[in-house]
Amino acid sequence: MSTPAPIPAADPAYVRIANVTKKFGDFTAVDNVSLDIQRGEIFCLLGGSGSGKTTLLRMLAGFETPTSGSIRIDGTDMSTIPPYERPVNMMFQSYALFPHMSVEKNVAFGLEQEGLTRAEVARKVAEILDIVKMGGFGARKPHQLSGGQRQRVALARALVKRPKLLLLDEPLAALDKKLREHTQFELINIQQRMGVTFVVVTHDQEEAMTLGTRLGVMNHGRIVQVGSPSDIYESPANRFVADFIGSVNMFEGQVSQEGPEGVRISCAEVGTTVRADRAVTCSRGATVWTAIRPEKITIRRSQPAAAAGENVLRGTVREIAYMGDLSIYLVQVESGKMVRVTLPNTMRGGERPIAREEKVWLSWHGSSPVVLTE
Ligand code: ATP
Repeated sequence: MSTPAPIPAADPAYVRIANVTKKFGDFTAVDNVSLDIQRGEIFCLLGGSGSGKTTLLRMLAGFETPTSGSIRIDGTDMSTIPPYERPVNMMFQSYALFPHMSVEKNVAFGLEQEGLTRAEVARKVAEILDIVKMGGFGARKPHQLSGGQRQRVALARALVKRPKLLLLDEPLAALDKKLREHTQFELINIQQRMGVTFVVVTHDQEEAMTLGTRLGVMNHGRIVQVGSPSDIYESPANRFVADFIGSVNMFEGQVSQEGPEGVRISCAEVGTTVRADRAVTCSRGATVWTAIRPEKITIRRSQPAAAAGENVLRGTVREIAYMGDLSIYLVQVESGKMVRVTLPNTMRGGERPIAREEKVWLSWHGSSPVVLTE
């Protein structure tokens, strides 16, 4: 009889942030944050300017001390561990390379205090430059590189000591949009090859959605929601998150019917009843907000077959923006409110496109609206 395989212990959080607050004088920059980050994740801290992202990252690195609360990394309490003894490296917002040093020297710099032989240093530098696809550039100086190449050298410098946790503060901010998109995928690739845990700070929601296995959305020093990119986009926890991530149509209304199969909300500001086919904890008469993403709304010239007065609006197209892959329509509904609709441009030619000042019908499926109570 074979012995049963041992049951693996549940993997504890690699980084455990428990009730961490950071005050600067009277000002609370990070407010009672609790967060678990798993080994091998790319965890993105996303939020507007001044929301506390960098301060939280600096506390993980040990450059700031929490006013209260605790941080554990790989099971060890960090409160008495100085930055240089943490299994952490940080890549800063401005990843200045030493201009007078070659790429190889820049990358080797971090290793030199470690008492390695020259041959070991050279081997480690070559290996990491290969990983970031800069193998042929070791002799160049930073000014002889493109912005994307400099970014990869900075990454190599941060990774060469093989930190278990790499903290990246707006790592791609200096790159133009196209290069940034390309580099996002490279960063994911490198992270997966090296098995490092990444915590990335960004204010760019598209970047967070592309890079992150999970996101933590911050506002005024607090974490307001943690989830996968699709959780956060499809099921935002509140109006702040719905509005911050992507664009959204938000209609205020009162609950007119509620039950396990969904809710109906009477939205006077747009002149329709919104039916949402998901259960929401709210009581009849309560004020709530329905959030509907622009791509979930159908726009057409003819009246849809939907139940009269439910999930349907009539309006006039006021603006159309052609974006190449999609078009954005701003439709003024009969109540006067503007509703945003996006349509992918899948067809070339074909049916006559809807034009400005045309009368249209807007409708959406009951699975599309998200009902927010705060
Ligand atoms: P950004 O995206 O603009 O970098 P952030 O979310 O990273 O913003 P933080 O740098 O963490 O924000 O700053 C959070 C708040 O704490 C800000 O209001 C900032 O002015 C304040 N703050 C940060 N460091 C200090 C400090 N050393 N002394 C006083 N206030 C500070």
